[in-house]
Amino acid sequence: MSTPVNIEASPDVLAGLDAWRELPAAQQPTWPDAAALAAAVSTLANYPPLVFAGECDVLKSRLADAALGKAFVLQGGDCAETFASATADNIRDRIKTILQMAAVLTYGASMPVIKVGRIAGQYAKPRSSNDETRDGVTLPAYRGDMVNDFAFTPESRIPDPNRLVRAYNASAATLNLVRAFTTGGFADLRHVHDWNRGFVANSANVRYERLAMDIDKAMKFMAACGADFDALRSVEFFASHEALVLDYERPLTRIDSRTGLPYDVAGHFVWVGERTRDLDGAHIDFVSRIRNPIGVKVSPSADPDYLLRLIDKLDPAREPGRLTFITRMGAGTVREALPSIVEKVSASGAVVTWICDPMHGNGFESPSGYKTRRFDDVVDEVRGFFEVHRALGTVPGGIHIELTGNDVTECLGGSGEIVDADLEKRYETLCDPRLNHQQSLELAFLVAEMLQA
Ligand code: PEP
Ligand code: MN
Repeated sequence: MSTPVNIEASPDVLAGLDAWRELPAAQQPTWPDAAALAAAVSTLANYPPLVFAGECDVLKSRLADAALGKAFVLQGGDCAETFASATADNIRDRIKTILQMAAVLTYGASMPVIKVGRIAGQYAKPRSSNDETRDGVTLPAYRGDMVNDFAFTPESRIPDPNRLVRAYNASAATLNLVRAFTTGGFADLRHVHDWNRGFVANSANVRYERLAMDIDKAMKFMAACGADFDALRSVEFFASHEALVLDYERPLTRIDSRTGLPYDVAGHFVWVGERTRDLDGAHIDFVSRIRNPIGVKVSPSADPDYLLRLIDKLDPAREPGRLTFITRMGAGTVREALPSIVEKVSASGAVVTWICDPMHGNGFESPSGYKTRRFDDVVDEVRGFFEVHRALGTVPGGIHIELTGNDVTECLGGSGEIVDADLEKRYETLCDPRLNHQQSLELAFLVAEMLQA
């Protein structure tokens, strides 16, 4: 029997993991208690990994397939997870929604769908302002449950480093259930298909009946051919979040003993957001040092030359699957703004995975005062994303959606025809508005049609 080798990291690699500390870091909490922060960071540094380096490598190879048009990515989940919402029912319903969407997309794409949750770590939020004022009272902004509490009181809004440890524990519990749901028979394609039949049985969704019937026929065909449905009882499911609070990501970065290379083991895939993607800033430096597949959000303000420099920094080896650009252009802008970006990147020879986030460029405040998005704008941005990539001969690799498995009323429209007056009924998000269960499925049917076109 061969002895397992334990390859250690080189001193340069180890030093590099802390290089971000010397760089400007946007959106970091000001922790008032340095000793409490040190204690929380040391606790995290001693906890076991939430994911394994080998799983991150598998996801990287799957994302490489998506970059080349051999797979399609479905990334979805809450804008901001909360400790209170990490319940069995909520987690189950989110997984169920993603599995239902994935089944429809798999049929539409005739390709494997890579399932990635915005889950088990999405506990920190970038904010446009450091403060929030209500009725003349100004307090620090809510930065996600990993940092402070949403309640509008001075005590609640003080950044508390113990929350970093709570975020780890909530993520561990969530991931444990995710792994059980996706491997324990719940994900059986036959159940998922039955749930989807329930969706089209609702008269509001008859428009999707034909596609559902086609899937039904395909399932019967598979059964008649003797397909091993038992092998389809489990699915691969990956966890992702925005790598925002570096005092959480850094202690959860570990050296892979197989290779001596560092991985952020807080999630399989992490991304850098629109507000923290400064080329010379802490976040880009940090993710440049880890070996996970990584993403960067890209808005119309991203200059193509900046993106080329970003590619040099984050993917110097030009490794397909390493780097994903998550474009969030806005429905009204995608058709003008995306082509020059995609053209310049592909002309450089770099292979990135292009994913469409049709949520973050489409927010607005409704007349009744809720932060919302229109379902039709979400659909239209995905449509524009497909049009642009098809015109350029590049690959539309996936979608990135803020969604929940619950029947919330946060986004307008969809076959349930949610209107402004409905928003107050079940507006539950603490940050951005999410598609509800119905709207998510409807989007999946529409994207499946786009994939078939
Ligand atoms: C998000 O994904 O919740 C987010 C804040 O997005 P962006 O960085 O694109 O604004
Ligand atoms: Mn969001």
